Amino acid sequence: MRPLTEAEIRASFVNCTKGEASRARLPRDLAELDWAGLDFLGWREPGAPDRGYLVAEFEGRTVGVALRLAPQRPGAGRGGAMCSICLTAHPASGVALMTARRAGRGAAVEEYASAGEYFCSDLACPLYVRGRKRVAAGGARMTESLDAEQRAARMRANLAGFLGRVVR
Ligand SMILES: [Zn+2]
Repeated sequence: MRPLTEAEIRASFVNCTKGEASRARLPRDLAELDWAGLDFLGWREPGAPDRGYLVAEFEGRTVGVALRLAPQRPGAGRGGAMCSICLTAHPASGVALMTARRAGRGAAVEEYASAGEYFCSDLACPLYVRGRKRVAAGGARMTESLDAEQRAARMRANLAGFLGRVVR
């Protein structure tokens, strides 16, 4: 993706208030990120374990989404799990259910007001897909016939599906 500045990222959020967007803690060293290798930028908020963010190009504009981590269900956390965006298999703790308030639905009934998806819990999907980051030990090994570029295309399509649910 195209390199973004802090101001562009803060202005891109579609599903939080201006105050929340200005208070969000962004990744440090934005200028030093390898933007060309990022299909989207995702991060967890330091010091706020239930919050995450992602910023992506969607339908010709930059869209930022604030995410909340759903509380873990009892009995969860065992075995393996798969990110539904990049389809990377992790140990269960490597995947988290994250929900986004849908844009423009402030007072709607809760179940219609948010969109949820299982993400890599560090929101580093592009790094896993492109082999820049390795899954923690314990994840199921999956043999994939797709190469990194095809997996990245599939990840972008899955993310676009999620963003469509948030934005519309
Ligand atoms: Zn992922």
